[in-house]
Amino acid sequence: MNIESNLKAIQSSIFDQCKINNRNIKEIEITAVSKKQSVEKIDVILNKGHKVFGENTVQECKKKWPLLKEKYPNIRLHLIGKLQTNKVKDALKIFDVIETLDNEKLAKALSKEELKTGKKLKYFIQVNTGNEPQKNGILIKDAKEFLNFTRINYKLNIVGLMCIPPKDDEPSLHFSLLADLGKRLNLTKFSMGMSKDYKIALDFGSTNIRIGESIFGPRI
Ligand SMILES: *Cc1c(COP(=O)(O)O)cnc(C)c1O
Repeated sequence: MNIESNLKAIQSSIFDQCKINNRNIKEIEITAVSKKQSVEKIDVILNKGHKVFGENTVQECKKKWPLLKEKYPNIRLHLIGKLQTNKVKDALKIFDVIETLDNEKLAKALSKEELKTGKKLKYFIQVNTGNEPQKNGILIKDAKEFLNFTRINYKLNIVGLMCIPPKDDEPSLHFSLLADLGKRLNLTKFSMGMSKDYKIALDFGSTNIRIGESIFGPRI
């Protein structure tokens, strides 16, 4: 298991996929998903200059990242898991991007904390493309209203859309729904695609792929 060569292999397959799709490789960012991975493993690619990482809980991020951030000041942390309103204060301290904005109460709390601290983050709206009742995310039919509302009322800097396709579905269907929605809403960033399906996601215009185990190996 060589973490550095894993990352290189993904970069090279992104390069190939961009060629096939006639896309500019510069618009694609790899979020290295470091949840449940050791600090030692994370350090391997930090040391090689990788700058964008994803964690799925505020709690784990707070444990692992403060020291690493001191050592590597220019990194950017993305929250890719559910954010509870009572964790907003901590989330704003440690994250740069929140990819899981999915309800109004949360938007309101984030806006309040941004005003209080003067810190502004970037946000992706999480979209429930599969209309799954138990799944987080804004429904496609509500996305336009939610986007306008969070921008105008809460002044959140929404940069794009994010989705997690249902486990047993063809992911391309969901990537295509998200891309279509983004076009309609004039959004240019799409966080879609993980270790198993990132190549398909790139075919559908993903700009932010979230890769965990294909870089770091199995989670603890
Ligand atoms: C864990 C996780 C990933 C990474 O998944 P891998 O299969 O390890 O690449 C991506 N996105 C989200 C939202 C996750 O929770």
